[in-house]
Amino acid sequence: MYTLIKNGKLVLPTEIKIADILIKDEKIFDIGSNLYEKYREQISNTFDADKHFVIPGGIDVHTHMQLPLPHFGIEASDDFSSGTLAALQGGTTTIIDFANQSRTENDSLTKTFEKWQQKALGKVHCDYGLHLSVTIVNEQTKHEVKKAVRDFGITSFKTFLAYPAMKISEEEMLSLMHTVRDYGGILTVHAEDGKLIEEKTQALLAAGKISPASHPLSHPIIAEINAIHTMARLQAESNCPTYIVHLSSSSALTAGENTGLLFETCPQYLLLNDSVYSSSDFDVASRFVMSPPLRPASEQSGLWQGLANGRISVVATDHCPFLLSQKRLGLHDFTKIPNGAPGVEQRMELLYTYGVKSGRIDMQTFVAITATNPAKIFGLYPQKGAIAIDSDADLVIFDPTQTHTIHAATQHTRCDHSLYEGLPLQGKCTHIFLRGKKVSSNAKATGRYLKRSSPLLSK
Ligand SMILES: [Zn+2]
Repeated sequence: MYTLIKNGKLVLPTEIKIADILIKDEKIFDIGSNLYEKYREQISNTFDADKHFVIPGGIDVHTHMQLPLPHFGIEASDDFSSGTLAALQGGTTTIIDFANQSRTENDSLTKTFEKWQQKALGKVHCDYGLHLSVTIVNEQTKHEVKKAVRDFGITSFKTFLAYPAMKISEEEMLSLMHTVRDYGGILTVHAEDGKLIEEKTQALLAAGKISPASHPLSHPIIAEINAIHTMARLQAESNCPTYIVHLSSSSALTAGENTGLLFETCPQYLLLNDSVYSSSDFDVASRFVMSPPLRPASEQSGLWQGLANGRISVVATDHCPFLLSQKRLGLHDFTKIPNGAPGVEQRMELLYTYGVKSGRIDMQTFVAITATNPAKIFGLYPQKGAIAIDSDADLVIFDPTQTHTIHAATQHTRCDHSLYEGLPLQGKCTHIFLRGKKVSSNAKATGRYLKRSSPLLSK
């Protein structure tokens, strides 16, 4: 019944220390030194962490498993099974995926929730929660939000300022923000100025500029900045907790200074830049087509600083892989390239290598942005995101000495390419524990749906 992880270098909020962790069933039961002597009789399994880091299991709050793109007639290439296996192998023990309300089918939020549960149930290998993406705001919305919070444990509601099929008006946004605030939830926003994107897109297509190189031109940084200004104003007016997903530029972060907005960014915006779109090989350029797009390299250091100084709270991935054959739908029209890329599997190791090891962030910031902050903001703390007594024993033993290289051919994600092909990594998630059970590479689906609480916002 008891499992011991001995000799770990525990990364705790206020210190990093060598200690043992005793797991009883699914929870952390004790933390200290020489726990073997204390619990010798009851311990059935012992893992020697060999003074490697022990960190809370990663929480990726931005994934799109099996995302349907009805107007393209396709789905993202990872389903809840392959995508969550990939997550676990990369040290992520919890995901929060987006359940998108279909406007064309006039789905209620309840129907939306049920649709996503049907895809996920019995297939999910790590623990998971769902956000609801709201695309219909009407008289019913208040009741539906209330029901989602109360019955489904969903406290986060996603909105879009861009994409015709998803975007809602400012009036609808403000109305929803009042509702979400009233029921103790948090609003999350895809922050790009949809009108500007539409104008730029039409102009590029009219000029015959159909290649992937047009994608970043159709989504300029100013579109992100405009949206940040809009959301800052609406946040101040509604006092609703408001979280900007996948912030892509330090310019937009600057626009969000001295506002009440919370920010998430993604590894691709920290590590890659827009030079990739100029490749004449469609299969190379198209894999980087996502929204917002990659930015000039000069936008990166401000994002890293934002992580180091706490202005950016979370790094998630926006994991949404499409095969190259699916990307080729846009061979003759860049607007028909499905937006999205894989990433859930590499987030932890990329951030360690290019964040901690490169001296941009410290180890405790690494844990904060990959696990603790997402748990707090999305109502999972302290069940998740902490090495603490009574927390779920979601733990990763991380060996900082192992080196390896990212290759699409060896990843668990169901995708035929990687944004990071050939990139070296320093450090590896060697042992992953989900609620006290060590994850093996042929893990059975034991992921559990998580009902979440209101955001815990300390700032
Ligand atoms: Zn997304």
